[in-house]
Amino acid sequence: MRSRKVVLALAFAVLLGALMLAVHFLAASGLARPQLYRRTSRAMGTFVTVAAWSGDRSHAEEALDLALEEIRLLEGLLSTFDGKSELSEINGAPPGRPVLVSPATLEALGVARRVWRESGGAFDPTVGPLVELWRRAREEGRLPSDEEIEAARSKVGFEQVEVEGETTSVAVGSAGVRLDLAALAKGLAAERATRALAASGIRSGFADVGGDVCFLGSGPSGRPWRAGISDPRDPEQVVETLHVSARAVVTSGNYQQVSVVEGKRISHIIDPRTGRPADGPDSVTVVAADGAEADAWATALSVLGAGGADAARGAGVEFVMYFVEDGGLRRFASEGIREYEGGSR
Ligand code: AMP
Ligand code: MG
Repeated sequence: MRSRKVVLALAFAVLLGALMLAVHFLAASGLARPQLYRRTSRAMGTFVTVAAWSGDRSHAEEALDLALEEIRLLEGLLSTFDGKSELSEINGAPPGRPVLVSPATLEALGVARRVWRESGGAFDPTVGPLVELWRRAREEGRLPSDEEIEAARSKVGFEQVEVEGETTSVAVGSAGVRLDLAALAKGLAAERATRALAASGIRSGFADVGGDVCFLGSGPSGRPWRAGISDPRDPEQVVETLHVSARAVVTSGNYQQVSVVEGKRISHIIDPRTGRPADGPDSVTVVAADGAEADAWATALSVLGAGGADAARGAGVEFVMYFVEDGGLRRFASEGIREYEGGSR
C-alpha cells in the first residue's frame, strides 16, 4: 500500500517536472498562445496590412516581412510612375519589340487576358488613353469632344498586346498603345502576399492592399473571416458582411472617385467599348478564389453592371452590386453569393 503511494507520488513529481520543462521550453522558444500578428505599411499608393495567426512570434514576424516584400516587389514591376518598372519598359519599347518579363508580370498579364476575353473587352488594361482623357475632362470641368474620344479609342485594344508564354516576353504592337494594370495590381499583390504567408507555413492570415483582401485559410478559431461591404453613400458604414474562408474579396466603387462635369457623373472606370465613363453600379464586390481575378472582375462588372452576371458565372466568380437610386440602395447579387452571406448589419 505504502509503496503504491510512493510510486504515485513519484509519478506525480515526474509529471510536474515534465510540465515545468515544457513551459520553460515554450517560453524560451518564443511559443505562446496563438494570436493574430499584423503589420501595416504603405505601398502601391495606399495602406497595406498583412496578418498571420500564429503561436510563434518570430515565425509570424518573418512571414509578415516576406509578405510585405512580395507586395513591394510587385509594385516595382507594375508601377507606371516608376520609369524603370517592367511595365514602363514594355510601354517604352518600340512597337513590336518584345521585352523579357518576370513571372509575376506574366501572371498579371495572363489574368488580364483571361478577364479581357471573358468580359467581352469590358476589362481592358490598355484603356489608359481614355482614362487620361476623362481625367483631364474632370480637371478642366468640360466634357471631351467625340473626335477626342475617337482619337483616344484608336490607341485602346488589348489585342494589340502580344504575350509569348514560352519566351516570357511582351510586345506592344502599335504606337500609342500602353499597358496599365492598376485595375488588378492590388488584388494580385494581396494574392501573392498571402501565398508568401502560406509558403512560410502560416495557415491562417490575410493581406489587405487598399481594401482588396485575400484571406488565407479560415479565421482564428476556425470560423470564417468577416469582410464588410461599405455603403456606397457613406463608405464609413457597413451595409453587409460576407463570411469567407480562403477567398479574395475585392470592391470596385464609384464612390471612391466620382465627379460631376456639365451635369454628368464621371466614374474613374471607363467602358473601353464606348470610350465613355461606365454608367454601372455604384459598388461591386467580388468573391473569388484568386485576388487578381477578383480585382479584375470587380472592374469589369463596374462596366457591365447586371448584364455581366452570365460572364461572371462562366468565370466562376460571385458578386454583390449596389446601385444608389433616389437616395436608397438597390442590391443585385449572383446566386452563389448566398454561400458567403452572413446577414446584414
Ligand atoms: P479598380 O479600382 O480596381 O476598379 O481600378 C480602376 C482603375 O483601373 C482606374 O483608375 C483606371 O486606371 C483603370 N481602368 C479604368 N477603366 C478600366 C477598364 N475598363 N479596364 C481596365 N482598367 C480600367
Ligand atoms: Mg479592379
